[in-house]
Amino acid sequence: MFNFLYLYLLAAGILVFPVLLSAEGAGMSPEALEKIIEKLRPLHEKLGQPKFGDWLSIHREPGQTFDEYLRYKPITPQGKRHVIYVQPLGDFTGTQRRIVTLTADFMGRYFNLPVEIKETLPLSVIPAKARRTNPAWGMKQVLSTYIMESVLKPSLPKDAAAYIAFTSSDLWPGEDWNFVFGQASVRERVGVWSIYRNGDPDGSAADFRMCLLRTMKTATHETGHMFSMLHCILYQCNMCGSNHREESDRRPIFLCPECLAKLCWATRSDPAARYKKLADFFSKNGFNAEAEFCRRSIQALDLE
Ligand SMILES: [Zn+2]
Ligand SMILES: [Zn+2]
Repeated sequence: MFNFLYLYLLAAGILVFPVLLSAEGAGMSPEALEKIIEKLRPLHEKLGQPKFGDWLSIHREPGQTFDEYLRYKPITPQGKRHVIYVQPLGDFTGTQRRIVTLTADFMGRYFNLPVEIKETLPLSVIPAKARRTNPAWGMKQVLSTYIMESVLKPSLPKDAAAYIAFTSSDLWPGEDWNFVFGQASVRERVGVWSIYRNGDPDGSAADFRMCLLRTMKTATHETGHMFSMLHCILYQCNMCGSNHREESDRRPIFLCPECLAKLCWATRSDPAARYKKLADFFSKNGFNAEAEFCRRSIQALDLE
């Protein structure tokens, strides 16, 4: 199960974040990307031993270097399937809607792909059989597998690289589970995430940023799976598995050099141009440390 993620809601109408493809259309060769990996390695922290309860203390993972990824013949968003669709589902406050819109903007920059926000669907599309009150905690929940199978799959756009529902409702994936942050089906290209457990975006500015960062991490981690990126076991990296909130908060939103090379190869992105677009987003939205990391990465890429 590709558990994990969050999500949210909506915005009437359709918003499109076009991608600037200037000089990025062709993408870099695997050899050029290998050189990029070496330049960026010093900026990234090795993963080290898992703590008690962490993902890798429970799950055995094979890991995946850039070279192994290429041999795996990954699914990539090239050709006809190149648009990321965001499907708001249910009611959202104005602030929550802003989280969804900003996350969609961020995903476009992260994956170098156009992102389209579809018209919001009401929660009434979910029948009673796919809802419950959590037996232990009492909150209302929606069945994540129903959303993927019965809401998203039947209306998957032909040009979708990924079709992702965002909801403010809490999710559960089936029997024996209390909840999931989100869930994705790599093969079907659909996923759902909830922002329910991401904190209160209507609190302070710091609370808003926390909710946004958590939502963006989940959205980009799960979409990375859709492009055949496996869990990372080498570095502190957005593609590491997370077993609990403290662990996912500990992970950076950035990709380690190996995972970055996979993404740049899959999406034909230029690493420096991508870091510039991310730096612009982080600066505009008050993520100073993240903006600074982008600048240091660009500097490292400039070195001969
Ligand atoms: Zn994962
Ligand atoms: Zn990684």
